[in-house]
Amino acid sequence: MASITLEGIDKIYPDGTHAVRDLDLAVADGELVVLLGPSGCGKSTLLRLIAGLEPLSSGTVHIGNRCVNGEPPDRRDVAMVFQNYALYGHMTVRGNIGFPLRMRGVARDERRKRVAEISAMLELDDVLDARPGTLSGGQQQRVAMGRALVRHPAAFLLDEPLSNLDARLRTHVREELRRIQRQLGVTTVHVTHDQVEALSLGDRVAVMRDGRLQQYAPGQELYERPANTFVAAFLGHPGMNLFEAAMAAPSGDGSMAVSVPGLADPLPVGIDGTVRDERLTAGAAIFVGIRPEDVELVGNDQAGVPGTIEAVEELGSERVIHVALPFATVDLTRSADSTAPGLLAARLDRQHRAPQLGARVAIRLPKGALRLFDRQGRAIDLP
Ligand code: ADP
Repeated sequence: MASITLEGIDKIYPDGTHAVRDLDLAVADGELVVLLGPSGCGKSTLLRLIAGLEPLSSGTVHIGNRCVNGEPPDRRDVAMVFQNYALYGHMTVRGNIGFPLRMRGVARDERRKRVAEISAMLELDDVLDARPGTLSGGQQQRVAMGRALVRHPAAFLLDEPLSNLDARLRTHVREELRRIQRQLGVTTVHVTHDQVEALSLGDRVAVMRDGRLQQYAPGQELYERPANTFVAAFLGHPGMNLFEAAMAAPSGDGSMAVSVPGLADPLPVGIDGTVRDERLTAGAAIFVGIRPEDVELVGNDQAGVPGTIEAVEELGSERVIHVALPFATVDLTRSADSTAPGLLAARLDRQHRAPQLGARVAIRLPKGALRLFDRQGRAIDLP
């Protein structure tokens, strides 16, 4: 087992695609780190650079204390599992798991012992003599993991290993993966574009966009304290609502507010006027963010921002409504799945009466739930 340290990594493919940019990342010994980001952001490239399947354009990769820059994949002591895990169909499960040991000339007795250990851990004992084609998707995935882990690699690299499984199985295999990883204490880097998978699996999650690292933190921290508007809007279903505003002059009691185009009254943001940050001076342009679950919906006879319900998504245990307000939200993720551009999303629990399309409502944006970002998108961290 070993830590993985990446410093100043750049990858430019021969066709000029700059897939990874000036990236630093440290994975602790025994840690499970997830690389998360939209398709094409450079996650797989980064994993392949760690594995040695692609040459670096610049930077260094250390596995443990060893710089592995010049070393081919088989000298790096890492095991990789891909989305298409390509088991050998003509071999039994036992043969598949033991294959990497046979290739390395490990003696038969030792091989048997190691295969038995891994198959017990992965609960594959009953299918050791079966051929992969007769197994379920989840079992095949475990065989692929077994084949990778049997060598006791220093690090385990997983490239979207769960994406071929159906939703229910994916949850199950995800839990197993977590259990096995903990049990073995094997340093793991896991690539996915699925935020639920990332947040539930990772000790820490590295969010990437356009080849750059955006934030590296435990999942809950990413959600609660996103470092920038991209992370804020990328995480969550739907992501954080964001809209443009300008800092207003402090009000009589010294607390701060923002003016939002289309709203007559300034919106209090829950910061007292003694906070010193030049990005908060009156007139400064900012983005304001609020999570859909923090938006409050009240009757249109009550005080709040007036709006109209334009869309309702029923999600079983809860519903998400999309509300047209006097101001528009902005989409800073360029993600195709932002369902309702310009509308504010609010997540309601089932106690709420089913809202009607077209209904006039009032929205409250509690000041304690608002987050502020500068116009470069960087979070303005408040005490
Ligand atoms: P992700 O895993 O996040 O989807 P990738 O690492 O696969 O992203 O790709 C990052 C970028 O590099 C994309 O623009 C992709 O098209 C490009 N890319 C990936 N592999 C190659 C390659 N072999 N040659 C040229 N460009 C590539």
